[in-house]
Amino acid sequence: MTGGINLNASGVEREELEVDVLLVGAGPASLACAIHLKRLLNERGKDDATILVLEKAEDVGYHTLSGAVMDPKGMAELFPDWKEKGCPTEAEVTFDCVDYLKKGGGKFRIKGKLVPPGLQNHGNHIVSLYRVVRWMRDQAEGMEIEIYPGFAGSGVLYDDTGKRVVGVQTRDAGIAKDGAQKPNFEPGMDVKAQVTVFGEGPRGSLTKSLVSKLGLAKDSNNQVYETGIKEIWSIPEDRGKAMLGSVIHTMGEPLGTSGYGGGWIYGISDNRLSIGYVVGLDHADAKLDPHAMFVQWKQHPEIAKLLEGGKCERYGAKTIPGGGYFSMPKLAGDGFCVIGDAAGFVNMSRLKGIHLAIKSGMLAAEAIADALVKGDTSAAGLAGYAERFESSWAKEELWSVRNFRQAFQAGFLTGVIDTGIQMITGGRGLVARRKIHEDHESTRPVSESRLTKPQFDDTRSMDKLTDVYLSGATHEEDQPSHLVVTDTSICVDRCTQEYGNPCQHFCPAAVYEWPHQNADAAKSAGGVVINASNCVHCKTCDVADPYQIIEWTVPEGGGGPQYIDM
Ligand code: SF4
Repeated sequence: MTGGINLNASGVEREELEVDVLLVGAGPASLACAIHLKRLLNERGKDDATILVLEKAEDVGYHTLSGAVMDPKGMAELFPDWKEKGCPTEAEVTFDCVDYLKKGGGKFRIKGKLVPPGLQNHGNHIVSLYRVVRWMRDQAEGMEIEIYPGFAGSGVLYDDTGKRVVGVQTRDAGIAKDGAQKPNFEPGMDVKAQVTVFGEGPRGSLTKSLVSKLGLAKDSNNQVYETGIKEIWSIPEDRGKAMLGSVIHTMGEPLGTSGYGGGWIYGISDNRLSIGYVVGLDHADAKLDPHAMFVQWKQHPEIAKLLEGGKCERYGAKTIPGGGYFSMPKLAGDGFCVIGDAAGFVNMSRLKGIHLAIKSGMLAAEAIADALVKGDTSAAGLAGYAERFESSWAKEELWSVRNFRQAFQAGFLTGVIDTGIQMITGGRGLVARRKIHEDHESTRPVSESRLTKPQFDDTRSMDKLTDVYLSGATHEEDQPSHLVVTDTSICVDRCTQEYGNPCQHFCPAAVYEWPHQNADAAKSAGGVVINASNCVHCKTCDVADPYQIIEWTVPEGGGGPQYIDM
């Protein structure tokens, strides 16, 4: 790495760091990319090439969240001896089923060969993705790959043409709420690289700006998202032992057929369960509240009896990009690649993305290695990434479910019929290429809202603030809000009447509050109250806001949830 000092247009002196390859985000995609790339460059005699991974969380894994059931295919390609090397998994899947939860109680169980192919999990492993990425981090550091946690990328750096990515600027630290520099002010760095790899996860703020500026998704379907809420529960050991290795997915209550989503229960140890609920953000109801729906799901008698006598230990929430193959942006351009969830590498029909994230990182690494050896990191030099993807098993898998998620936006029944036809037509279904609109476009006026809130009246029904505590979320309090409402007058003048300020419902961390009795009180109080330090970085607000006036930006590096062992 080389460095220097740069006095930029704002007059702030910034340290400049130069590396060969910069990766933004230390999730499975980036770590797989860095590890594979280092090996390839070593093989080609470029062992002096510098690779740096930046991570906005205080430590690697703190912002990593998934259910998670891992198809080991990706990991086994990255490390053929992954088991012998000690890659941590919680349990091998020994039982799977789908439960249809009936209104008022009871269930209808689908098991054995009747389980839809996408939800058959024998051969897969239940994992804590936190532990997996910590293990990958150790492997990467053992290969002399530099990883800097606590550094949040706040802007993409371009060359003079404005088209070639040359790196990332990290966020300034030590700025007070009012914008003044505090005594501990530290300007962000300009980290420059021949290739910058965006592996920020779903709805990453840098990736969002890059995709928009360079029109990377102009030929793609819109991306759509689900919000997943997860808790880890300790339960009595006799029940835990009986459920170890079980993978149960649920349909039916409380969502019914009103939208896309469902629940999961994974037996992860002798006395612990991973449970969660996923809801499509294209739900029409302006009062959609994924956290409330999760609580209602936990109160269903079939779920309640699994949690009886247990205790919630951890909480987290995250969006999932569900659009699939047709929603992926262009994967590379001049000086950059986009990988993992940031590029939409998720198979929504299987509720899986870890194996695809790892594979995308490896495919990008192969193209980057070629580009560095040839000395051509332009769009043409990095085109090998998309070409490799198109002839990979990852493309084959995503192509086989290319119309899956879109079908459900046309209605639950259409979704069931069309996805059934997709199974016998190799993923085509009723329409060759189904379109999909952005999630927020589905939102109907609040006058049509039908959703209700749960009663928080038992040990399973933690409110949002209790759950935020269990997420470990912390931020420096005296800093400008990283949640930027670009036009607060819309909140007061239009949103209150039209949609009833849905931000107070959809945020799973009680960040947005609307305590005002009327418009005048709201105006004089400056509109919505934003408790930014509660934020668990799920990005639901950035996706679901009906006017698209909420911008999720990065807070000071190190802030956010701490998903230890999640
Ligand atoms: Fe998620 Fe936005 Fe709430 Fe933060 S403020 S927890 S990103 S919905």
